[in-house]
Amino acid sequence: MLYVTRRCHFSASHRLYNPEWTDEQNDAVFDKCNNLYGHGHNYVLEVTVAGHPDPETGYVIDLKKLRDIIEKEIVEKVDHKHLNYDVDFLQGIIPTAENIAVVFWNILESKIPSGKLYSVKLFESDNNLVEYFGEPVSIKRFVSNYASAELV
Ligand SMILES: [Zn+2]
Repeated sequence: MLYVTRRCHFSASHRLYNPEWTDEQNDAVFDKCNNLYGHGHNYVLEVTVAGHPDPETGYVIDLKKLRDIIEKEIVEKVDHKHLNYDVDFLQGIIPTAENIAVVFWNILESKIPSGKLYSVKLFESDNNLVEYFGEPVSIKRFVSNYASAELV
C-alpha cells in the first residue's frame, strides 16, 4: 500500500460559537475565536489517498486529477469566504477544524477515482492541525434560525 498526498491552500474567515449558548458561555469556551465578525486563517489542506500503483501508469492516483477534484469540490467553494455564512455545505456547523475536516471527508470520499481516501489533514495554523481518517463520527448541524438542531 502506498499513500499519495496532495497539499493545497485556502484563506477563509470563521467565527466559533454555539448559537444555543449565551454570549457568556461562548466567550468562556471560544474566547477570541468567538469574535463577532470572525477572524481569518490561511488553511493548509492535505488529502491522502491510499492504494496500489496501477501497473500501466505506476500511479495510485493521478495527482493532477486529485488536485482538480480538491480544487473543484473544496477550494473554489471556501477560498476567501466566511465559513459560517458563505459555504452551503458548512451551514449550521460550528466551523472548527475538526468539523470542517469531517465535512471535507464526506464530500471527497465518493469522488476519488482510484485508490481510497485515507486521510484529510487540515492545518489551521503552523501549530494547530486536525487529521481525520474517516471513522464514523457525529457532528452537530444547527438548523433554521438555530431553534433546533440535528445530528448529521
Ligand atoms: Zn479560527
